[in-house]
Amino acid sequence: MKPSQLSDACQCSKACQCIKEVLNHGNMEFVEAIRREQQLLETTNSENDSEKSRLPETGYIKQLGRLGETLQQSPKTVVLACSDARVPVLDLFQRRANEVFEIQLEGNVASTECLGSISYAVEHLPKIEGIVVLGHTGCGAITAAVDQYLSPQLEATTVEGSIMSLIRTIIPSVDIAASVLAMNSPSTQGTVLRDALDRRKLIGTATFVNAAAMAWKVQAFVRGLRRNIPVWYGVYDLASCRILHADLDRRDGSLLFGLGDAPHVTELNEVAQILVMYLQKMNHFDAAKFSTNGHNLQTTAAWEKLSMGDTASAT
Ligand SMILES: [Zn+2]
Repeated sequence: MKPSQLSDACQCSKACQCIKEVLNHGNMEFVEAIRREQQLLETTNSENDSEKSRLPETGYIKQLGRLGETLQQSPKTVVLACSDARVPVLDLFQRRANEVFEIQLEGNVASTECLGSISYAVEHLPKIEGIVVLGHTGCGAITAAVDQYLSPQLEATTVEGSIMSLIRTIIPSVDIAASVLAMNSPSTQGTVLRDALDRRKLIGTATFVNAAAMAWKVQAFVRGLRRNIPVWYGVYDLASCRILHADLDRRDGSLLFGLGDAPHVTELNEVAQILVMYLQKMNHFDAAKFSTNGHNLQTTAAWEKLSMGDTASAT
């Protein structure tokens, strides 16, 4: 029975084994794909171009070795991203197995355990050239932290302890976002700050501030290890599938395409300010309209090059 048939046929509501079967089948198919690729490699004359074109495009053997072999880990990048299932780290960077050292934690928080993983990577994986901290739009952890900030009385009643710990890690970023949002909002004059803040804008701003803040934390940590490895940050927009960062050079409310350098902690207010300006112009991260929504010309040109497949000159 195929995995799809298993899930279609599933009528059980409790202690369901179907997804376990789907996962087990997936692993069997993975091993089988490697075995087929290996078989073709062994029977194909690699000098013959027409034969070579028949090879499967999985590339598993190149990345992971033949069955029975164990290759060295050789990623060039560490990526700290959110656990959200809609953030496909390898796919969105068009990387493959053994190319990225992935750490996925809800809210892409640079927790103690996360820093331990980063320490392992930079100390033991010699090909690491850079570290990415990647937030994303529509993040449940950021939303929970914003809601906690706006309604702090929730803590004692409804929020489970381990989630509260996660939220507390994100709250400083929400605090920065809220302060800057309040400074730019005349409606907050004479009112209780929390009551006057626009929840949607606060979530949008805090998403960028949190990714930037965690990147700064990682950068400071790596420097403490006396390693000169750059750290970048970005926010993956679920709607457009593009990565964006705040333009700290122009500081005019523009978002740029791609990853930005981790800002210093003293620049986090600037990141928030750029987001507040951006969200005053735009209702949402409408990255599909690059020429009119506040992205500058440099970004537009870079995206156009990528769209035309001119990836070599854009990198
Ligand atoms: Zn998330």
